[in-house]
Amino acid sequence: MATLFWLQTGACGGDSLALLSAESPSLEQIFSAHGVELLWHPSLSGASMREHDALLERIVNGEQALDILCVEGSIVTAPRGTGLYDSYRGRARMDIARELAERAGTVVAMGTCAAYGGVHAAAPNPGDCIGLQYNRSTPGGLLPPEWRSRAGLPVVNVSGCPAHPHAMTQTLAWLAAGLPLPLDELNRPKAFFNTVVHQGCTRNEYHEYDIEENEPGGRACLFFNLGCQGPMTQAVCNSDLWNGTSSKTRAGVPCFGCTSPSFPRDTDLFLTEKIGDIPLRLPLGVERPRYMAYKNLARAAAPERVKDKKMDV
Ligand code: SF4
Repeated sequence: MATLFWLQTGACGGDSLALLSAESPSLEQIFSAHGVELLWHPSLSGASMREHDALLERIVNGEQALDILCVEGSIVTAPRGTGLYDSYRGRARMDIARELAERAGTVVAMGTCAAYGGVHAAAPNPGDCIGLQYNRSTPGGLLPPEWRSRAGLPVVNVSGCPAHPHAMTQTLAWLAAGLPLPLDELNRPKAFFNTVVHQGCTRNEYHEYDIEENEPGGRACLFFNLGCQGPMTQAVCNSDLWNGTSSKTRAGVPCFGCTSPSFPRDTDLFLTEKIGDIPLRLPLGVERPRYMAYKNLARAAAPERVKDKKMDV
């Protein structure tokens, strides 16, 4: 069995809520069929806080093995680097996180806050929040860039706001099975971050022919005017639907790019920033000079059913 301790730091609890909706595998299956033994989760465990404290002590003393440490939430380092704005029994949670990380076989940052700082690290960041091993896009957070866990891994970043339920449970199952977990350049498990949200979006044909919406909730593409980050954001939201049924773009809301270290970007999330008529950020790998030529041609070639927004999304 692989033991798991779940630590909440500066968090809203959204990743824990998302975890409950996982189906493949579900959280129950993680414990019953995938060899994970839950030592502690702040919302799921029934043990008293006295028992929690004794458990913490045993882990830190090396009397209780800790295979997987999951951290949910950003690391609060204010005021003045003490971390005491987020404390437990008079101790900064950032110190508890550091101590547990030193004992853990693998450390998993569940959600963008734990991975990169996330919402709490957005300007003006009064809590001086950072991620476990990143400060937004810059390597080095609570732990330095060269830090490795007992299993030889950097912090595994299962980013998302919240993280995708299956990205979380499948990562746990993968680790419990002792399988290699290839990571991308931002230390995210490649298996869940190797496609963009744009892939599988039901608005793709509108995007191809440059038929764009001006208001949320319509049928066409949300990229050109409404700030959709789908073509630049690596996540499985449109290939593994949330609750098996939907995603932001299917509900008529632009993708906000929540798996990226720079999330949330410091602009209106429902607006596409442009230089002249051209979006500032283009789909991954697309060259700016060719983009507008392609778009103008595509719009002229659009079939009537696309122009008239007759297709359901
Ligand atoms: S709404 Fe977003 S994800 Fe969907 S096709 Fe348009 S740009 Fe791509």
